[in-house]
Amino acid sequence: MAGDFAWPETMRHPGAVLRTAMLRTAVLAASGDPRVRQLVSTTRLTRAVVTRFVAGEDAAAAVTVADGLAATGLRVSLAVLGEDTTDRRQAEESAVAYGGLLRALADAGLTSAAEVSVKLSALGQRFDASLARDLALWVCQAARDAGSCVTVDMEDHTTTDATLTVVAELRREFDETGAVVQAYLRRTEADCRALAVAGGRVRLCKGAYAEPPSVAFTHRAEVEASYARCLAVLMAGQGYPMVATHDPALVELAGRVAGAVSADGQSARWSARKNDRQDGGSRLGPGPGPGPGPARRPFEYQMLYGVRPGEQQRLVGAGEVVRVYVPCGREWYGYLMRRLAERPANLLFFLRALRSSG
Ligand SMILES: Cc1cc2nc3c(=O)[nH]c(=O)nc-3n(C[C@H](O)[C@H](O)[C@H](O)COP(=O)(O)OP(=O)(O)OC[C@H]3O[C@@H](n4cnc5c(N)ncnc54)[C@H](O)[C@@H]3O)c2cc1C
Repeated sequence: MAGDFAWPETMRHPGAVLRTAMLRTAVLAASGDPRVRQLVSTTRLTRAVVTRFVAGEDAAAAVTVADGLAATGLRVSLAVLGEDTTDRRQAEESAVAYGGLLRALADAGLTSAAEVSVKLSALGQRFDASLARDLALWVCQAARDAGSCVTVDMEDHTTTDATLTVVAELRREFDETGAVVQAYLRRTEADCRALAVAGGRVRLCKGAYAEPPSVAFTHRAEVEASYARCLAVLMAGQGYPMVATHDPALVELAGRVAGAVSADGQSARWSARKNDRQDGGSRLGPGPGPGPGPARRPFEYQMLYGVRPGEQQRLVGAGEVVRVYVPCGREWYGYLMRRLAERPANLLFFLRALRSSG
């Protein structure tokens, strides 16, 4: 399958790729510097960049954005920004913010199209793992009460084992809870095999943190090849793959692999289990949908708010299920820096804005 993979344009220009990789590492490293944080957070023109990627500062703004996206046929995953919480009060406030967001989504009648994405570091994972687990359980219950569900974001590699352990615990009570895996980690293909079980919702992304070569592929080609291998494992498994990428070659590959897998009867197995659920399985995602092909294996695409919106609509128009990750809240710094690091053009736009404000 990886042999069918069509390398994107950037792969044919190794110099540009190398510069992009170095830039990414440099931006992520600089983002930890308090002086950079101060500069970025207080510059008036940062706001224009922030509003491109972040829905707003509160639940009401996020629900308005979610409503607009749902009206165009998109699904959403809402995230309350905030990570690396350092005390219990902050962690509890984070969980409460999710509770409020879920109630607001339910009041707006949006929970059939909306789930929430949660970072365990926002719930205290770095200083009290059991607190983070308990708060995550609380958010899962709030989500279920609202008719929605939770996907647990994946953060840097030092937290991967702990996060997957918590997801397994959450799934014992809330089997609709989604996991996230990062294709840039060398371990991820094996993780995909373990997670591709019946009912398992698994988001596959490339990974957004600066990781050392000892644990991660650092060349773009290796990450993309790993993504293709992981995709094949998830599509051949019994779970529900959530293909989180904006990369045109991988978007195309996902459609092709899903089409090929349906011939093995995966689609039939998945939908049989879905129909067993008393709630109709809506929290697990759609059944075999109107996507291209007669009985294609179910999966969904996921993209970020503000990134390739035209492609999101094109896929919806083609009958695909597409979910948009919509962040909200005041703690946008880490999220913004990861988005800037992903794409030189974003960084240039930001730097130009800074220069013209100076
Ligand atoms: C729904 C969703 C959830 C995610 N959850 C996690 C998570 O839990 N943990 C984690 O580590 N990472 C997460 N990520 C981020 C992910 O790991 C990547 O860093 C990010 O998606 C960029 O990789 P890409 O696959 O889009 O490919 P890239 O090669 O980075 O991008 C492909 C093309 O997409 C467009 N593009 C990509 N990023 C941007 C951008 N920031 N601005 C403008 N255009 C852009 C460009 O046209 C680019 O050429 C998530 C991503 C998505 C879409």
